Amino acid sequence: MPDCIFCLISQKKIPSEILYEDEDCMAFKDINPEAPVHILIIPKKHIESVMELTEEDSGIISKIFNVAKLLSSELKIANSGFRIVSNCGKDGGQTVGHLHFHLLGGRQLQWPPG
Ligand code: 5GP
Ligand code: ZN
Repeated sequence: MPDCIFCLISQKKIPSEILYEDEDCMAFKDINPEAPVHILIIPKKHIESVMELTEEDSGIISKIFNVAKLLSSELKIANSGFRIVSNCGKDGGQTVGHLHFHLLGGRQLQWPPG
């Protein structure tokens, strides 16, 4: 997707603070953090949202959760706790049309979110 900001980040055409990368996924710092730890974990493949996921993407999703687990340890939020969230569509508050998972932690998070 030529104009997709997260595709451009995954191709390193737009700079980001990358914390993890392999052939299928990438994790980088959110540009506008909502918590002391706010990381975005994405598949490198362009998938619009949770709604466009198929059975063949199950390996990537599993990998993304493993990356979240790994980073939670590295960033020392594993014991205190954290949140993983993927916003989908307008009412879900999705603003970037490339599937991503927010990893949030480092403070007490409120529930339910607004
Ligand atoms: P959404 O609202 O779609 O769930 O989340 C999109 C997230 O992407 C937001 O938290 C926003 O701050 C982040 N974001 C948008 N543009 C950029 C960018 O160019 N670089 C980085 N690192 N994060 C971005
Ligand atoms: Zn994309």
